[in-house]
Amino acid sequence: MEYEAVIGLEVHVQVKADSKIFARCGAGFGHGPNELADPVVLGLPGALPVMNKKALDGIIKAGLALGCTIPDVSKWDRKNYFYPDSPNNYQITQYDQPICDGGEVEIELPGASRNIMGEHRKVKLTRIHLENDVGKLTHFSSDSLVDYNRAGTSLMEIVSEPDMHSGEEAFAFLTSIRQIMVYCGISDCDMEKGQMRADANISVRPKGQKALGERIELKNLNSITGVKNGIEYEIRRQTSELKKGRTITQATWRWDAELGVTEEMRKKENAHDYRYFPDPDLMPVRVDDEWRNRLRAEIPELPYEKQRRYFEEFDLPYTITSVIVPDRELAEYFEEAANLAPKKAQAIGNLVVNDLLREVSEVGIALSESKIRPPHILSLVEVVEKGTITKNIAKEVFVEMFKSGETAEEVIERKGLKPDFDDSQVKTWCEEAIAENPKPVESFKAGNDKALNSLKGQVMKKSRGKANPQLVDGIIRDLLA
Ligand code: ADP
Ligand code: MG
Repeated sequence: MEYEAVIGLEVHVQVKADSKIFARCGAGFGHGPNELADPVVLGLPGALPVMNKKALDGIIKAGLALGCTIPDVSKWDRKNYFYPDSPNNYQITQYDQPICDGGEVEIELPGASRNIMGEHRKVKLTRIHLENDVGKLTHFSSDSLVDYNRAGTSLMEIVSEPDMHSGEEAFAFLTSIRQIMVYCGISDCDMEKGQMRADANISVRPKGQKALGERIELKNLNSITGVKNGIEYEIRRQTSELKKGRTITQATWRWDAELGVTEEMRKKENAHDYRYFPDPDLMPVRVDDEWRNRLRAEIPELPYEKQRRYFEEFDLPYTITSVIVPDRELAEYFEEAANLAPKKAQAIGNLVVNDLLREVSEVGIALSESKIRPPHILSLVEVVEKGTITKNIAKEVFVEMFKSGETAEEVIERKGLKPDFDDSQVKTWCEEAIAENPKPVESFKAGNDKALNSLKGQVMKKSRGKANPQLVDGIIRDLLA
C-alpha cells in the first residue's frame, strides 16, 4: 500500500515591540537575567495587564499580508497550566476568537536545480492569534534557574491547516513566512534568538484516504532545516510503523538534531485540560476599517509579487531574482539602479549578485554602509558595454570602487586602465597572433571553432588584458574568413 504524509505547522513569531504585550516593561534580547521583569510580568498579586497597541498592529499587519480576515471583535482567554517558566500559572492567549481568521501563504518549492524555479503553491492557514511568551529555564545538575526576560513578550501563533505533505513544503512555508515578516517589519524571525519557533504536526495515511491519520506533534525544532529533517524522519518512521501493522498514538515527540531521531516526550493534552476561560482583566479588541486600512497601507510589495514583477519588468533570470528578492534592502538597492536604465537590468543584477555581495560579505559591512551606490553600479555597466574596459578588468575596477567610493570612470582614469592603443593596434596584434600560431589557425579552418580561443588569448596577452574580447573575436574571424 502507498502512504501519504499530512503536515500542519504551528509557528510562533515574536512581534517586534519595545515593551511587552501586557506590561510597560522593556522587551528584547541580550540583557542580564530578569532585567526585563516587572510586577505584571512576574504575575504579582494585584498587577493588571494593559494591552500593547504595537503588538496588535503587528499581528493585524501580518494577518492582512497573509490574506486573513480580521474580525471586528476578538478576545483574550486564559490557558491554565502550571510550569515554572510562566509565573501567572496561566498564559493569556486567544481561544475561540483570534485576531486573524483563515489566510494563506505562498510557497516556492525547490526546482530541479538551483538555477531553476520550482512550483509555487498556496498553503492554507487556520488562524493567527496573539499570546504572551513564557520565560526560560536553565537546568543544572542539582537545580534550575529561571529567567523571565522573555516572559510576556508578544508572540503570534500562526496555525496552518493540515495542508502540507513533505519536509520540503514545510521548509518552504517557514522560509516564506520569515521573508514576509521581515519584509513587513513585523519580526526579525531569527530562530537562533527564538524570535521564530515551529512545532510540526505529522500524520501518515493510506494514499487516497480522506480521513486524517493519528498525528504526532514534533517539538524542539530549532532551525528551518531542523524542521525539514525532523519531519522527514518522522514520516519515514510512521510509514514503517503502519506498514508493520502497528498504530500511531497521538502524542508529543521531540526531534534530537544531534542523533537525527525523534523520541516520545509526553502524551498529548487536550483543550479541556487547560480550562480555558475569558480573561476578566482584559477588554475584547475591536478593530474597525480605519485601523485595518491604516495597516494595509503599510504592507510593502511581498517577495513573490516582487519576483514576478522583476521577471516581467526587467526580464531577470531566476538565478538573480532568487538571490535579490528575499532581501528587501538588496532588492531596493537593485531596483534603484535598474530604474536608471531598465534595459541594462540584467547586467546590473549580475554585478549586484556577484561583485557587490562578495565584497560586502568579505569586508563584513552592511549593504547600507557600502560606498558603491546604485548609480556607481550603472557607471560600471556602461563602461563595459561601451567596450572601454573588459569584463575582467571590470572586476578589478569594482573592487577599487568598493574601497574608494569612486565612479568607474574615476577608477579607470586613476589606475590608467583605459586601453592606451586604438583598434588598428588590436588588428595588428590579431595579424601577429595568426602568423605566429599556424596550428590553431589550421584547426579553426578545419571547422573547430574552439581553436579561436587560443588565438584570442594571444591577443589579450599582447594587450595586457585591455583589448575588448568581442572586438578581438570579430577581427580574427574577419581575417580568417
Ligand atoms: P493543538 O496542537 O493545540 O491540539 P490543533 O488541534 O488546532 O491544535 O492542531 C494544531 C495543528 O495540527 C494545526 O496546524 C493542524 O493543521 C495540525 N493537524 C491537526 N490534525 C492533524 C493531522 N491529523 N495530521 C497532521 N496535522 C494535523
Ligand atoms: Mg499544538
